[in-house]
This record gives sequence, C-alpha cells and structure tokens, in this order.
Amino acid sequence: MAQKRDYYDVLQLHRNASVVEIKKAYRKMAFKYHPDQNTSDPQAESKFKELTEAYEVLSDDQKRAIYDQYGHEGLQQQAGGGFNAGGFGDIFGDLFGEVFGGSGRRRSGGRAGESLRYNLEIEFDEAVFGTQAKIKIPRYKTCDVCNGSGVESGSEPEVCPTCKGQGQVRFQQGFFSVSQACSTCRGEGTIIKNPCKQCAGSGRQREEKNLSVKIPAGVETGTRLKLLGEGGAGTKGGPPGDLYVVIQVKEHPFFQRRGNDIYCQVPITFAQAALGADLEVETLEEKEKISVAEGTQSGDLIYLKGKGVPHLNGYGRGDQIIELVVMTPKNLTPKQRELFVALAKEDGDASTHEHKSFFSKVREMLD
Ligand SMILES: [Zn+2]
Ligand SMILES: [Zn+2]
Repeated sequence: MAQKRDYYDVLQLHRNASVVEIKKAYRKMAFKYHPDQNTSDPQAESKFKELTEAYEVLSDDQKRAIYDQYGHEGLQQQAGGGFNAGGFGDIFGDLFGEVFGGSGRRRSGGRAGESLRYNLEIEFDEAVFGTQAKIKIPRYKTCDVCNGSGVESGSEPEVCPTCKGQGQVRFQQGFFSVSQACSTCRGEGTIIKNPCKQCAGSGRQREEKNLSVKIPAGVETGTRLKLLGEGGAGTKGGPPGDLYVVIQVKEHPFFQRRGNDIYCQVPITFAQAALGADLEVETLEEKEKISVAEGTQSGDLIYLKGKGVPHLNGYGRGDQIIELVVMTPKNLTPKQRELFVALAKEDGDASTHEHKSFFSKVREMLD
C-alpha cells in the first residue's frame, strides 16, 4: 500500500486552517477532480477519494485532533482500520447535492411551510353553479422585516460552534460512524445571535389573509380544492405549504342532491293523478311546465333532462328528477264528501274489494 499523503498537503492547507477554509479548499478541489468531470483521467477517481478522505477527517473536530496528534495510524486504530465506514456519500451529498442535482440531504436548509385546511360552507345553488368565495385564513407569512432570515438587520447568522456548520454531529459506534442532527442549531448549521425583533428569529409572522377562491360548478360536500402555495410560508427559503378548501354544502328546503341529479317531490291531488294536469314546478333556474299524465300513480317519476348539476370535471349536466306524490285529501267539504261517495258507488260497481279498501282508506283519513 502506498504511503498516505498528509491530509493538509492533500487539501493544500496550513495546519491552522479554519473549518471554512477546509470546506472551501475541498469544494474547489473536489470540483476540479470530480470523476464525472474527468472521465479521461484514470487518476481522477483516486485523487477525488483522497481529497474526500482528507476532508472527512479535517472537518471533524475529533478526528482532526487525533490526526494532528497521532497521524494516519491514530485514525486507523480509532476507526478499526476502515475509512469507508464513514459516510462518504453523506459529505458528498452535503456539498454537491444542489450543484449536481443529486438527492443530497439539505443542510442549513429551509423547511417547507405547513399545509392548511379551511372548511367552507356554501349554499346549495352556489355548489351547483359555482361561486367566488371570499375567505380569510390565519397563516404564517415570511417576516417582512428580516425577509425570512430571522436575523436583525445589520447582523448575520453565525456558524454553529458545536457542529462547525455541518448541521450534523458524528460519533463512532463500533465500526460505524453515526451522524445525528446537531442539537445546538437544530441541524441548521447556523445560529442567530441577534434575532429579528418582529419575528423573534423564526423568519415568519402571523397574518390574516383575505383570499378570493373560485368554487367551480358541480362541487359537493367533501369536495377538496387545493390552492397551491397558499398555506404557511416556508422558512429560510423552504417552499410554502398548500391550502385545502373543503366544501360543505347547506341543505336546500326543496331539492336534494343525488350525484349530478337533483331530486324533489311534487304533491298532486287525486283528481290531478286520475285526470292528468299541467303543472309548474320549481327548478334551480326558472319554473318549468310539466304534464302529469292521466292515471298517474304516487311515486311516478318525471325527468327534466339537463336541469341538474353541471359535471365538475367535464361537460353536460345531470337531470332534475321529480317524484309525484298523490295527496290523500283530509277534512273534506260536504260537497267533496258527496262526490267521493258517488265515486265510491261507481267504483263499487267495478269491484267490491276495492270498494271496501276505499272506505277503509277514507276512515283512516278521517281518524
Ligand atoms: Zn423577522
Ligand atoms: Zn450545530
């Protein structure tokens, strides 16, 4: 095995180099020797590995101290001989994740804002035809004093002294190097000594936001509308959350919703059922004329095509379904009674059974 080069030489650093200098040197040289950039150079990969190993040690306080005192041998004993037990991929992700579009974990990065839910109650016909709803939502916005940095103007966030800006602390557990989010800076890598007075360093402040939300025709109870990016603001450049408006439709005194059809009951008299009639019925728009056929039974249906609810995702509308309900008369006038008795006699000629049942019905009515 070839003699290992001194880590400081590898990174071209003096022995008192600061963490920032170490990081800067590594970033610059790693870029230069990254294997992807040097496909024709067979040495590039080993050079890159050497750089990364040097960086992994010098950027870690504990390892650097051991190395300074005992050199390469000290570290080999410490780590059980295997450098690769450490997180090569981790460092790589940290420094180059953004640049190379890799999936490196975000360090000192922003946090996404929270998504919010708003329950919106609307009228029956607003659900059918759509509406523009005005809502007011309490949410967090980016602090407009510090612009979300959380830092009082004139000062800067400082590198966290515990993790030296890594956001992670590493410790050795057997053969493995384990890393954990730094508790001093909560994984952000920086700490704020002079927090913004407006937001107390959080980078966000409360607001009551007025929004006008377009409710499309055809929504129903439980429909969820997603408003992209209208949730809570993210912190430190993190994306905002979304706002979900959840629809609750009020009941209508006359209509019921059945999917895209609307259903209603229309009462008719015995005479209208028997003889037929022209009626006017309510729809969601103007009144409509319907014809009740001669001999209509209670429960017969009439469909008004296209008078229902517009399809939420597409064209066309449902129907209005009218159930005809034959009303049995109560509190007959003497004249009506006379006519029903005459009718009963007429019916009696046709069938005594129906005659009986008719009279039992009349009795029930009079009870
Ligand atoms: Zn602020
Ligand atoms: Zn820290």
